[in-house]
Amino acid sequence: MATKTIEDIEVKGKRVLVRVDFNVPVQNGMISDDSRIVAALPTINYLREQGAKIILCSHLGRPKGQKNPEFTLAPVANDLAQKLGAPVTFVDDCVGESVKMQVEAMKDGDVVLLENVRFYAGEEKNDPEFAKQLAAVAEVYVNDAFGTAHRAHASTEGVTKFLSPSVCGYLIQAELKFLGEKTAQPERPFVVILGGAKVSDKIQVIDALLEKANKILIGGAMAYTFKLAQGGKVGNSLAEPDKIETAKKALEKAKAKGVEFLLPVDNLVCDALDFKGGTLGNTKVVDGDIEDGWEGVDIGPKTVELYANAVKDAKTVLWNGPMGIFEIPESAKGSFAIAKAVAEADNTSIIGGGDSVKAIKKSGYGDQVTFMSTGGGASLEFLEGKELPGVVALDQK
Ligand code: AMP
Repeated sequence: MATKTIEDIEVKGKRVLVRVDFNVPVQNGMISDDSRIVAALPTINYLREQGAKIILCSHLGRPKGQKNPEFTLAPVANDLAQKLGAPVTFVDDCVGESVKMQVEAMKDGDVVLLENVRFYAGEEKNDPEFAKQLAAVAEVYVNDAFGTAHRAHASTEGVTKFLSPSVCGYLIQAELKFLGEKTAQPERPFVVILGGAKVSDKIQVIDALLEKANKILIGGAMAYTFKLAQGGKVGNSLAEPDKIETAKKALEKAKAKGVEFLLPVDNLVCDALDFKGGTLGNTKVVDGDIEDGWEGVDIGPKTVELYANAVKDAKTVLWNGPMGIFEIPESAKGSFAIAKAVAEADNTSIIGGGDSVKAIKKSGYGDQVTFMSTGGGASLEFLEGKELPGVVALDQK
């Protein structure tokens, strides 16, 4: 089944409630990263061209059900108006009389942005009464907030009970295509690169992808728990000794499924990591075991070559999680080299959200990949094979 999209419905002259993800970083009224606003533009522009009345809603930060000017969406309205080249009317509430009045005054193609939905406790509680109030001013619902689609909140799930049709926008459509379809029936070989801090965070993703991938390449601190599972030594590296059994099971499953499961053959190690200070102390590259007193902080050059070759031979690549402590330049080299390999390879490349997106953007290769997910937790849950409440609540074709 496929989720209905804005192109499947008639929106001309209709009041359309659009849940977007405008959870952008704001400091002193200035937006320091507008990529989420940019990501919502195709849907907003399409609805404007079609002559819909567009009522945007979003959360920003964690105001915990209280009205708090620190978390106002007002700066987003200004930024969005500039990007659209058209006025965006900001309403300082998301439910009630003021919203009703503004919406009644709307003409086809107009855009209104409501205040932060998390100023009401009913949002995160998915309170049906709050959802009903939110839905009251609209006729049609569009969800385009992939980043919160894994949460059943009033604005992501509750409103679908009061509005019909309920469909997805272009952003969610693209996420479903690349994180969903392209990895469910991948062009093969399908190579998955997984990194990040913990096996415990990613084990369900590993488990789900072991059903689909031809090769899984492991990096980041996660690799050290797998190394322990193989009887290796990891010195002072970040590892989860209580997850050794979990790691062993994944290795066994890979064998049983015929999935090539690669671990780093060399690592950059250091003796005095200071994450906040951004320094590593002495460093060296070691093959095999890591001695006590040393900590693995990145994949080494031989591993980079091995993984880059696997990426080159792949038809589909999915990458989630950095290969090392990419926040520090000296231990970002592995992640950046993988970013380069992924960007330069002639295949479908999908960056599965969170820190891997940060890493590839930082490397300068972000615009050379096929797709970068806008989700963090949502991307992970989707890759784990879980249903996203904000997606399953929408109409299906
Ligand atoms: P995750 O959110 O699970 O994708 O993990 C990302 C975090 O893992 C980043 O902040 C990295 O700095 C961290 N990380 C990656 N490799 C290592 C490592 N070898 N040692 C410690 N932290 C790491």
